[in-house]
Amino acid sequence: MFERDPSVDVLVVGAGPAGLALAADLARYGVRCRVVESRPEPRPGARCPNMWRRTLYALGRLGLPSHTLRAQGVPMRSKVFHVAGRTAHISLLEDPDDPQWPLPLLIRQDHQEKLLSLLAARNGCRVQRGVTARVVAREEDCVRVELRARDGGTEQLRAAWLVAADGGDSSLREAAGFDWRVRRHEGISWWQVDTGFEGVELPPEREDLFHAPYRHVGMVPLAGGGHRTFLASATEDGTGTPAYADVERLAREVIGAATRLRHPRFLWWQTPREGRADSWRRGRVLLLGDAARVFPMPVHGLNTGVQDAANLAWKLAAVVLRQAETALLDTYETERRQVAEGLMTRGERVLYAGVSPDPEETLGPILDEGTPRVRTEPPVTYDAEPLTLRPRGSGQHSCAGGWAAPCRVHTPDGVCTVAALQTGGQWLVLSPAKTPLSVAHPLNPRLVTGAQLSCGDRPTIAVIRPDGYMGAEFPYRTGRPAERAVLAYLDRAAAGA
Ligand SMILES: Cc1cc2nc3c(=O)[nH]c(=O)nc-3n(C[C@H](O)[C@H](O)[C@H](O)COP(=O)(O)OP(=O)(O)OC[C@H]3O[C@@H](n4cnc5c(N)ncnc54)[C@H](O)[C@@H]3O)c2cc1C
Repeated sequence: MFERDPSVDVLVVGAGPAGLALAADLARYGVRCRVVESRPEPRPGARCPNMWRRTLYALGRLGLPSHTLRAQGVPMRSKVFHVAGRTAHISLLEDPDDPQWPLPLLIRQDHQEKLLSLLAARNGCRVQRGVTARVVAREEDCVRVELRARDGGTEQLRAAWLVAADGGDSSLREAAGFDWRVRRHEGISWWQVDTGFEGVELPPEREDLFHAPYRHVGMVPLAGGGHRTFLASATEDGTGTPAYADVERLAREVIGAATRLRHPRFLWWQTPREGRADSWRRGRVLLLGDAARVFPMPVHGLNTGVQDAANLAWKLAAVVLRQAETALLDTYETERRQVAEGLMTRGERVLYAGVSPDPEETLGPILDEGTPRVRTEPPVTYDAEPLTLRPRGSGQHSCAGGWAAPCRVHTPDGVCTVAALQTGGQWLVLSPAKTPLSVAHPLNPRLVTGAQLSCGDRPTIAVIRPDGYMGAEFPYRTGRPAERAVLAYLDRAAAGA
């Protein structure tokens, strides 16, 4: 049934959203990649339906068409907070001119995983379900892994790189020698269920959050009806197993109406916990997604994981394809751990604000702002060299390090977005000059001449990374000085130092 010793460039363990997104990306770059997953089918249920804009752009870059995503989801226009008799509407329309994803989209996680599995397979990656991986040995040039199928058959595999995307309870993490620190938020119960509601009005395309002292309930609409509903409480005895009747009772207490659940399914509960691995790479083993960190609230994990994958994929592909040094991989942890740490801090604050004894006092100032500052996607920028390079003296004016995928670019052929110019996942050099620059480099950038980003206030040469973030921005110049500047930046990026 199994081949005897099929070496691969990258073995991804875990067909959750992070592992699948990485595999789909790697395969697109031509990396020989394989995914194994213990479960025969994706875990059912909505779990994380919220797909924020950066996640949607990341999936588009992998080749997942926006119409396919839209067909399975509903947009989310706003969050509506109900606190002590007050109702605050927070619009999620970040960029009304964004031609592709002006709003986040809601798609059940099991549907997302099915789409990603199909995409990974279509890009040329084998996704095997019902197969469990175990690390046998870590060697200098490979990792030896045993794969066990459900019928007991085994296969020994040599992978040049192993990506443990096996979730928060990762067994590979420990086997590969990573340290894992966990903190549980005792006294708080987090429940989640997919359900319809009777007795409370829940308009479409918005999330409703009801707050009461020590607890709150949030309802996120799902395509096809019903809501992904989560409840956090500091008053429940978190030791037992909740039933649907407990969910209904708690929802009634918080909402203050004779609410009834309709067709509840997939009840899930947890004492919130946060966890961090001490490092995200040991030799040839990399941690990805929840295996690397879990957040204090069971939210953000999917979106951050898909974006972690977008950050890692092009770096790992460049190393495997010998376009870059292994040191480039260290920038994955530097950049993404910083994002994770920010979300840990924010998540903890939001978790405790949601079970505060006086929600009006705790949430009032945030709601007064009317901006989506919490419970939304964080505005990530990358600041560290060598991948972010700002022109000397540009200070705060430089866009380098910022997310550029939805930015508009004026080109001789018309106006389009950075993302539209990057569909192959390549580096992009935008130059306002009419004559093409000569920037032949192992990282193989795509050069667009006569191009200018609309976000800057003066003409610049912009170098965009494959994940849609701006790496470097240089004052406009032509000829050799411009070429030298771009090539020197790409050399440093490829060296990872
Ligand atoms: C109730 C709930 C609500 C959530 N809501 C949100 C939200 O609103 N927003 C958000 O962004 N995130 C949310 N999340 C988090 C999100 O679901 C997770 O962060 C996400 O699934 C993590 O993705 P992953 O790919 O890292 O790991 P996982 O999805 O956990 O996938 C890991 C996979 O590895 C497999 N595996 C494990 N060990 C092995 C092995 N040895 N061999 C082979 N396969 C193995 C497992 O079967 C699993 O399928 C929610 C989670 C829950 C539970």
